[in-house]
Amino acid sequence: MSKEKSRPKWDEYFLKLAMLASERSTCPRMHCGCVLVKDRFVLATGYNGSLPHQPHCEDIGCLIVDNHCVRTNHAEINALVQAAVHRVSIKGSTAYITNMSCTTCSKALIAAGIKRVVVFTDFHDTLATKFYVDAKVEIVKMKMPDTEIKYDLKNYISAQKSEKSK
Ligand SMILES: [Zn+2]
Ligand SMILES: [Zn+2]
Repeated sequence: MSKEKSRPKWDEYFLKLAMLASERSTCPRMHCGCVLVKDRFVLATGYNGSLPHQPHCEDIGCLIVDNHCVRTNHAEINALVQAAVHRVSIKGSTAYITNMSCTTCSKALIAAGIKRVVVFTDFHDTLATKFYVDAKVEIVKMKMPDTEIKYDLKNYISAQKSEKSK
């Protein structure tokens, strides 16, 4: 494969970052990641996890209400919180999310001024799509990688150098 072909497009790149963020999730029922991007700059990232200094679902079990785990803040909310804590305006930005938002998160992103959502085709039965469409937020659905995110370490220059220097 040529170098040109293996270089990810911007949407793919940021969605992969969202997948990476999702690896930090602490609720075994759902691993979700969110990256907020404007003008190709990452403004904030988030994953679904417990409140700071609170126990994790994976350690003490989920906290189920109406068949949903309510212990964690969702990835989108945590990304918004991170932006708020660091006083970063995310107005007009794009949200890269590994899973389609729940209804609540879609409303929060819309209220914060998100203009575009890029998500894997994985769809959850919520009112998110309706809210996004009503708010004229563009929804882009991308195909999830089949089995793995390829890092192609053989062509990774730094890895080659460190391998040689051993
Ligand atoms: Zn949980
Ligand atoms: Zn949510």
